[in-house]
Amino acid sequence: MATYEYRCSDGSLFEETHPMGKAPDAVPCPSCGAPSRRLISAPHFSKAGSQAFRLIDATKRSAAEPDVVTSRLPGTPRRLQPYSSNPLHRKLPRP
Ligand SMILES: [Zn+2]
Repeated sequence: MATYEYRCSDGSLFEETHPMGKAPDAVPCPSCGAPSRRLISAPHFSKAGSQAFRLIDATKRSAAEPDVVTSRLPGTPRRLQPYSSNPLHRKLPRP
């Protein structure tokens, strides 16, 4: 099934769904009943590749393979206090 656009002689636009290649050239207008001609328009088969789908794909991908962060976010304060106040922890080897 494909969506086809029609324009009534009064200027109103409407869409109808027909099997591909079997859409009539003119259908009655839903508001006034006058025969309306089919418009030639770009087919919209799917929204894949659109910005919304790229965001959805990136969100799903980040759940399994999060992006590597190499620096702090700008505006984030640097941690000033040590993680631990136990003096024995200072003797532990550091990377
Ligand atoms: Zn009409």
